[in-house]
Amino acid sequence: MNRTTSEKLYAEALEHIVGGVNSPSRSYAAVGGGAAVFMKKGKGAYFWDEDGNRYIDYLAAYGPIITGFAHPHITEAIKKQAELGVLYGTPTTLETDLAVMLKKAIPSLDKVRFTNSGTESVMTTVRVARAYTGRKIILKFAGSYHGHFDLVLVAAGSGPSTLGSPDSAGVTESTAHEVVTVPFNNVDTLQQAFDKWGSDIAGVLVEPIVGNFGMVMPRPGFLEAINEIAHQAGSVVIYDEVITNFRFMYGGAQNYLGVTPDLTAMGKIIGGGLPIGAYGGKKEIMDEVAPLGPAYQAGTMAGNPLSMASGIACLEVLQTPGIYEKMDHLGKKLEDGIQAINEKYQLSIAINRIGGAMTLYFSDHEVTNYEEAKATDSEMFGRFFKYMLEKGVNLAPSKYEAWFLTTEHSEKDIDDTLEAAEYAFSQLAN
Ligand code: PLP
Repeated sequence: MNRTTSEKLYAEALEHIVGGVNSPSRSYAAVGGGAAVFMKKGKGAYFWDEDGNRYIDYLAAYGPIITGFAHPHITEAIKKQAELGVLYGTPTTLETDLAVMLKKAIPSLDKVRFTNSGTESVMTTVRVARAYTGRKIILKFAGSYHGHFDLVLVAAGSGPSTLGSPDSAGVTESTAHEVVTVPFNNVDTLQQAFDKWGSDIAGVLVEPIVGNFGMVMPRPGFLEAINEIAHQAGSVVIYDEVITNFRFMYGGAQNYLGVTPDLTAMGKIIGGGLPIGAYGGKKEIMDEVAPLGPAYQAGTMAGNPLSMASGIACLEVLQTPGIYEKMDHLGKKLEDGIQAINEKYQLSIAINRIGGAMTLYFSDHEVTNYEEAKATDSEMFGRFFKYMLEKGVNLAPSKYEAWFLTTEHSEKDIDDTLEAAEYAFSQLAN
């Protein structure tokens, strides 16, 4: 496959944009380096690069593009709104309409607020939990990504009885000391952290289904244990559903799993591909937010008409009967197909799949937490990624990300993807 135009454009971007990319995960640093492919246009499950190569896409722009590229219903809604003005700085009915759709789909949301990104949403839930409890410490789980504000760029301490250390230059020790990080899927360490810090913990921040060290399900009873332990200590339970909202069903992972948080941070899919975030939850906690309460959060672009129109249109598409069943069916076909191919090649692999979201690890062990994900083979994944790209299949350039099915993938796309995977496995087995 000829990608010389992409290579030239990437070299040019490196001159002007830090690292050539506007979000670090878009670089190929985690898959052995090389020029990131420059995309020119997308339609449905495919996009085309600047050299004219077509790819079947499983990145879905890191999650939001669940209805495929340039979905006609969403494109029409964006065009229609653009002609009426893209920003007013006043309330619109669009905001109420999308808020009502979210509330109907996710019953734990008594009230919501829109922001511009997942980061802003999680950041505000943390502030609100602190305002509500009058406490400082946030407990989170190792390996989960919650955006790029200081408090969540904190690595684990040496165990549940130590506070964190900065995970990024520019994050202060004092901020890191406001966070405790424990392993996902381990009730004992959670309990130990609460035994030590419980009366200072404002909130527990958790992805109910993890999407950031690959797709990882909570063990049965784990989320229920979080609720029980946190609530007993007077702490707020915050679900980060930025990846998981509307991913597995029309609603959140919380509906899918039958568990209920106090606050929920949302993003990605709910904007249909335009910048968005939202957070919401119990009325008495949300009433802490300005202008009703003392916890401040604002945004010039928050609730902007374009993102609202796009989000409403996306959720309308997702109400189509059978759509999630189709993504689950195709996800299963992909998973089963890869396992069948591997009968022949006998590589060490582990697959985690929930509906239309899946991670393929090169690993001789299952993955239920971050330590296990870290211990999977990065070099093998990097080579696999590049073989798939060469055959016209675009995956996220990191072993920690998911493959996302969209409503637009077809049986034929899965067959073609499996053909590419067969080639990749044959090369890896050599
Ligand atoms: N939370 C989770 C679980 C995420 O995966 C992400 C982004 O990938 C974020 C928060 C941050 O969202 P954004 O990139 O929109 O700021």
